[in-house]
Amino acid sequence: MKILVINSGSSSIKFQLLDMEEERVLASGLVERIGEASGLLATKFNPDTEQQQVVKLEQQIADHRQGMLAAIALLTDADQGIIKDASEIGAIGHRVVHGGEDFHQPTVISKEVLEAITANIPLAPLHNPANLDGITVAMDLFPAVPQVAVFDTAFHQSMPPHAYMYALPHAYYTEDRVRRYGFHGTSHKFVATETAKMLGKPLGECNLITIHLGNGCSMTAVENGVSVDTSLGMTPLEGLVMGTRSGDVDPAIHTFLHRNKGMSLDDIDEVLNKESGLKGLCGMNDMRDIHDAIAQGDERAKLALEVQTYRNKKYIGAYMAVLGRVDGLVFTAGIGENDPDVRALSLKGLEAFGVKIDARLNDQRVKEPLQISSADSTIPVLVIPTNEELAIARETLAIVQG
Ligand code: ADP
Repeated sequence: MKILVINSGSSSIKFQLLDMEEERVLASGLVERIGEASGLLATKFNPDTEQQQVVKLEQQIADHRQGMLAAIALLTDADQGIIKDASEIGAIGHRVVHGGEDFHQPTVISKEVLEAITANIPLAPLHNPANLDGITVAMDLFPAVPQVAVFDTAFHQSMPPHAYMYALPHAYYTEDRVRRYGFHGTSHKFVATETAKMLGKPLGECNLITIHLGNGCSMTAVENGVSVDTSLGMTPLEGLVMGTRSGDVDPAIHTFLHRNKGMSLDDIDEVLNKESGLKGLCGMNDMRDIHDAIAQGDERAKLALEVQTYRNKKYIGAYMAVLGRVDGLVFTAGIGENDPDVRALSLKGLEAFGVKIDARLNDQRVKEPLQISSADSTIPVLVIPTNEELAIARETLAIVQG
């Protein structure tokens, strides 16, 4: 079956068409600058193979509907296209950021599901409306194709109340749904599943710490295959130090900034999400630039690396305590897959807990699943490249095949 994966943003649509017989990517594309004077549709056909072909079209794209139509026109183009017509698409999988407490797993989209995603807009005011735009257009254009919503939050719905409750007045939870939800669930579940395969154990018997370090960063404690705690909270701001997001801060800093600097709540929200994290600490949010700057003797860049990796280590320690027995520590995403220094620093000092990495194995950018722990490490350490589109396609296939 061929599955189209759609990740719809406020002014962009990312899409991937996969042939699930061999889990092969047929086309991978991006529609950008929707609603602006000049939009862009870029698509790679047969990516990462010898037949790879890249097509870029600059044209005005008024709205999501036009964007989706342009993408489908390219996929089915008589000369360049990769499928004869849209009827070859067996199912569509949509990434949806926030499923609140309504969705514990991917779900075939119905009127009720659309209403529930809409009802969760207050929890993700920027993301859910954009995801809904993509879904509405796809349902309208392909009424006969099953469409599945795959939620970033769903994997973490297994967290117990003691992990998801904030110590706030209880009515905030019952009346306003203020609690921890967690994100990056599709990625954590994917790497946990792949890790279980590498370890040769059923996922349901694995206790893992999955560490997703990209622009956004999060860590999950996986017990017997399910998420029992994760570092992102009610919004994707809590926890680890990210590219531009602060992660954990003393909540009283909000009041301090308001009283002492006259900042509004909106200003503070903007700073914590967009001007903090690595960028706040040293002015750069890309880890590659930070390494270059450290090599030039930049002390603040060094500090940013230290603050991030120290926070990683604190969370690893916390999740070791949560799990008791750990069968594997797994790094993934842009930094997790590519940065030996971040991996080594995040684990430095954990030797007494049975975590030892092999410096030679660790010293590389990882493209395929790889174990990087040394032979005498009690806890295996792995790097597993994440693949969110494939994960969404697999989940979609599983749902439509019942
Ligand atoms: P997103 O969270 O947006 O999906 P990615 O998982 O692609 O992001 O991660 C992006 C980050 O990965 C970049 O900001 C960069 O810091 C980091 N990164 C990518 N390649 C490398 C590399 N070779 N070395 C170190 N960091 C890298």
